Amino acid sequence: MKKRILAVGSVALDTIKTPFGSVQDALGGSATFFSAAARFFAPVSVVAVVGEDFPSKHLARLKRLGVDIRGIQVDKGRTFRWKGFYDYDLNAAKTLKTELNVFQNFKPVITPEHRNASHVFLANIDPEIQMSVLSQIKKPALVACDTMNYWIESKRGGLEKLLKKVDIFLSNDSESREFSGEYNLIKAAQALLAKGPKLVVIKKGEHGVLCFSKNFTFVAPAYLLETIFDPTGAGDTFAGGFFGYLTKAGRLNEASIRKAVIYGSILASYNVESFSFDRVAGLKATAIESRYKHFRQLTSF
Ligand code: AMP
Repeated sequence: MKKRILAVGSVALDTIKTPFGSVQDALGGSATFFSAAARFFAPVSVVAVVGEDFPSKHLARLKRLGVDIRGIQVDKGRTFRWKGFYDYDLNAAKTLKTELNVFQNFKPVITPEHRNASHVFLANIDPEIQMSVLSQIKKPALVACDTMNYWIESKRGGLEKLLKKVDIFLSNDSESREFSGEYNLIKAAQALLAKGPKLVVIKKGEHGVLCFSKNFTFVAPAYLLETIFDPTGAGDTFAGGFFGYLTKAGRLNEASIRKAVIYGSILASYNVESFSFDRVAGLKATAIESRYKHFRQLTSF
């Protein structure tokens, strides 16, 4: 089977303030960041919805990156918008406003071609939409999902159901604690593994990543950076590098998972160096490999 990732998630207009600058209605959304990173490893098709106000230049930009945007539907109404800010703790985004807009009534219909996708990534969006997409895919070899506190608080039941159907669950540290009811992250991961997935990946921003399966644990720091500009999308970009590499590797074992975590961390390190996905969009594959080598030097002992 030819490999292709089908990703569903938000395609958004973000208004963000960080200690270093601000931006209004920038191209964002979980599926956007995910696909900009995953495309380095495998072909990616996005399923999402935007409103009539969504600038066509953003869609053109995704297309130029080689992302298949035929599954991004344009509906009457306003595009999903997220407004947030960061103070000097860049690990924690503070949400000021979430406007679901056209996502509120989105009923994804997957094309016959996309139903054959080999790999499915359910990026952060309403778990009912994630489930609806997953149920339309014929025989996915690997399925992963991400989420955030907004959905843990408003759609916990839907998320619980989804976790029974995915191989890999990704979330950040505070979401893992909130969803599991455990403060300690080892206990939180065990509780999340008990909900269904084979692998739980906990993102800790600048403090790196913890990866838990029933058989092994892998811990990696974040790539060391001098300049962090805007952390928005770092989690989704990590997921793109991580899941993209696993798709390319074609197997889910300890060695491929360890490498996938490093590729995810490297893509995320490029993402935080600019607003939106500007840095990742302009990236060359050689730059990824050079940080990969440097990562190895930094962490070998
Ligand atoms: P990250 O920084 O990787 O956690 O993700 C940031 C992106 O998530 C932003 O571009 C937002 O547009 C998007 N986002 C924020 N809240 C939600 C939500 N409730 N559902 C889906 N996407 C969201």
